Amino acid sequence: MISDIHLHTEFSGDSNTPVHAQIEQAIRLGMEEICITDHHDYDVISEIDFTLDIPRYVEEITRVREEYKDRIHVNLGIELGLQCHLKEYLEQLAGRYPFDFIIGSSHFVNRIDPYYPAFYEGKSEDEAYRGYFEATLKRLSLLDCYDSVGHVDYVVRYGPNKNRFYTYEKFADVLDEILKTIIRKGKALECNTGGYKYRLGEPNPSVAILKRYRELGGERITIGSDAHRPEEMGFEFAKAREVLLGCGYEYYCVYRGREAQMRRL
Ligand SMILES: [Zn+2]
Ligand SMILES: [Zn+2]
Repeated sequence: MISDIHLHTEFSGDSNTPVHAQIEQAIRLGMEEICITDHHDYDVISEIDFTLDIPRYVEEITRVREEYKDRIHVNLGIELGLQCHLKEYLEQLAGRYPFDFIIGSSHFVNRIDPYYPAFYEGKSEDEAYRGYFEATLKRLSLLDCYDSVGHVDYVVRYGPNKNRFYTYEKFADVLDEILKTIIRKGKALECNTGGYKYRLGEPNPSVAILKRYRELGGERITIGSDAHRPEEMGFEFAKAREVLLGCGYEYYCVYRGREAQMRRL
């Protein structure tokens, strides 16, 4: 079974799942390796507290990893909310703890999550999507504190029409720059199967973007369900595998000690 390396637990503000429950589920599904990647979004406006108690988190995952070491390899990860003004803070944080893997995600633009209707006020849907992609491009260019880019088109999960009128072509200029930046910096692109859960009929990013990344020479892909509950783990991984093979990928990556390791799809 493909290793799920985007997983949340009760250390995230939006999950109640104990760490043990996620690990037990991974073992049941036959995964040999996983990565726990709880949220840390610092300096944002949100009803939910997305800041992580990092010292306590690192201590707990390190302890549990030891407890399960004969049954499954558990990596210590984090999903960092990228923002340009936090460059120094995020880079220090990334270097201070022994993370195996860091997902860099854009959850907030101008401190607002596209999850909230306020994000779209006064803008057309296309303008809102473009604004999200442009903010993401700036962050990926400026920052270096990430290994893989989480759900690049996250915004289309929540737009008024979701992905009904959304195409790669409409945003090809900015999306190509995002993909080229990922390749140039030796980072990975995430295939996040949460898109299926949100009924987009595709992962995030869309199949067209996964295909385009390959065309541009992209090789590093990570796969994650973004599960906040055990039953979401590995969601639609068989479908994602078919999609990735169809795009021309033969391998996906897992990360240990922030180094990519290739695994056959
Ligand atoms: Zn995320
Ligand atoms: Zn996540």
